[in-house]
Amino acid sequence: MTRRRWIADTFTDTTASLTGDQAAHLARVLRAEPGQIFDVVANGFLHRAEITSVSDSEVVFTLHEELEADAALPVHLLLAVFKFDHMEWGIEKATELGAERITPVLARRTEKHLSQAAAKRVERWRRIVREAAQQSRRSDVPTVDDPQTLKAALQSVSAETKLLLAETEQENTIAAALQQASQQVSESASQSVALAVGPEGGWTAEEMQLFTEHGWKHVTLGPRILRAETAAIAGLAICSALL
Ligand code: SAH
Repeated sequence: MTRRRWIADTFTDTTASLTGDQAAHLARVLRAEPGQIFDVVANGFLHRAEITSVSDSEVVFTLHEELEADAALPVHLLLAVFKFDHMEWGIEKATELGAERITPVLARRTEKHLSQAAAKRVERWRRIVREAAQQSRRSDVPTVDDPQTLKAALQSVSAETKLLLAETEQENTIAAALQQASQQVSESASQSVALAVGPEGGWTAEEMQLFTEHGWKHVTLGPRILRAETAAIAGLAICSALL
């Protein structure tokens, strides 16, 4: 049986704690007791861990041996802000698929009221990635940046291969772009990728130009127009198959 995995809220070198809702859930619903063994992620590392104390507000573990853990998919997703319910769903799925980092972008065609509300939403998005990371048994939690302009977002990208998902592109695929890029990086270097997905109204011509100036390549996901969250998921699934 696979053990339940928890992502610690706080930790030291030898202990880790769950607090808040997580502690309450463990204490009241799962009736956790000292001596029980779980897998706990602390400081980005996965450990076998033993409960040493339980209360409704804090469950403390002693960390035992470190366990082998899978790394995140080296993909940085730039996701234009779009309708929050769809966006949240996309963020959750992107986390399950392994995305390493998500940057919410205030695009030109992001609806105004969404742009204005985005800064307050980010805490919720961070909670979603945390829960999705735990549920999907990741050993890390993807970073969710503060919502930002496209210009700022583009400057923060360090991935070698930068792919703009564009419904206007007809030929270049993610597979072709990754293959071309892999011929340029040295054999040993693992390829890191940034993927950008536009809002419901798509990117403007000016935004497309800005991407080009920053060395992004346009790629297609096929002849159909996908919703933004579908495009993000499809793009990540393709990267996960190829990287
Ligand atoms: N402007 C479009 C809608 C944009 S869809 C329209 O005609 O209404 C939202 C985003 O999903 C796009 O900005 C793009 O990043 C991505 N996308 C949708 N379909 C795609 C496709 N076939 N290939 C690549 N990206 C796509």
